[in-house]
Amino acid sequence: MSPSASDVIVVGAGVIGMCTALELARAGWRVTIVERGEPGSESSWAGAGILAPLRPWRYPEAVWELCRDSLARYPALVEELRVASGIDAELLFCGARLHDPRDMARAREWHRAEGLLCADEAEGDREWLRMPWVTQIRNPRLLKALLRVLEQRGVVFRTRCVVTGLLQEGDRVQGVRAKSQDGQGSEERLLAGTVVVAAGAWSPEICAGAPRVEPVRGQMLLLRPRRRLPPGVWLLPEGYVVVRADGLCLLGATVERCGFDRAITTQARTALLAAAAPLGEALADAEILRQWAGLRPGIAGGVPVVGPDATRRGLWWNTGHFRNGLAMAPASAARLAAALQGETKAAATSSR
Ligand SMILES: Cc1cc2nc3c(=O)[nH]c(=O)nc-3n(C[C@H](O)[C@H](O)[C@H](O)COP(=O)(O)OP(=O)(O)OC[C@H]3O[C@@H](n4cnc5c(N)ncnc54)[C@H](O)[C@@H]3O)c2cc1C
Repeated sequence: MSPSASDVIVVGAGVIGMCTALELARAGWRVTIVERGEPGSESSWAGAGILAPLRPWRYPEAVWELCRDSLARYPALVEELRVASGIDAELLFCGARLHDPRDMARAREWHRAEGLLCADEAEGDREWLRMPWVTQIRNPRLLKALLRVLEQRGVVFRTRCVVTGLLQEGDRVQGVRAKSQDGQGSEERLLAGTVVVAAGAWSPEICAGAPRVEPVRGQMLLLRPRRRLPPGVWLLPEGYVVVRADGLCLLGATVERCGFDRAITTQARTALLAAAAPLGEALADAEILRQWAGLRPGIAGGVPVVGPDATRRGLWWNTGHFRNGLAMAPASAARLAAALQGETKAAATSSR
């Protein structure tokens, strides 16, 4: 790679890294993404695809702001990707049903304050709150579409290549050190004026002084119910069910602090099936098709770090999206790109 081949290196090709790369490429930046494995194969793939916090009223306002802004951006993004890549990420305005007596009053109040519709509904002895604005997406398809469109736009992907540290002179970051995962590759120096770390749960491994992100394992089940259910999201006291357009159901998700262990467990399977019990017969004899785990980038309060490093020039963070990275990705990326553009313009003006 020639020293001046890219303006920006993005570390990590999850939904956050790829949405960031798209924003920057649209703005005319030459972008290289360095990805340790294959693009879109970690937490962003493992997610359930719900484009909202499960209970937004329990989160800091900063999380909801990024989700609300992203929700407004998703239809145009998915359409742009569909037209350019031929891959439809299947954005589905399916709504959600909150079946949790503990949260009903607070949820109604929150909807009123936000000016969002909700409605009390009941069937037999079951009552729930309908939240019609909740949306789902097929995240693995979104990631495939992003990859294809980024390649079309000339973004360079260095896959199976791990970033092992920063290149720095004084307080100025000048690129990254990276090592190919294939064979016995020696360490390379990849130069760029700006480095954006979007390495999810692994972000603290890039350098000292990183935001306090830690891996939080989430396990999920994919089920085929015996009778077809309408698409939607069911928010239950101990978990959730996403009924996809194809009729398959995602049952999620555990929240486990066990380091970088991506193993699946029988305890989790039992707990997830028990969490679906309030649905009664609907999933009682469903066929279990698959179980998987992903490592969320956990952070206190769930508020991601989106912006420049406090002390090192040329270093930016877009990380710590915890349980809502899919729901916050487009707005996080837009926010980071706008701030980066703003800083570059300011630097150009002051050097005139
Ligand atoms: C079970 C489960 C269910 C979820 N459900 C939802 C949901 O319904 N809605 C929602 O909004 N969110 C959900 N999430 C959370 C969401 O998936 C994450 O917040 C989001 O994927 C984080 O994106 P990311 O790009 O930061 O991380 P990742 O997708 O993990 O991407 C980080 C990338 O960085 C790469 N990388 C790491 N270190 C290096 C290095 N040194 N060099 C090069 N590359 C590196 C990794 O290989 C990886 O590809 C869920 C998560 C899980 C696990």
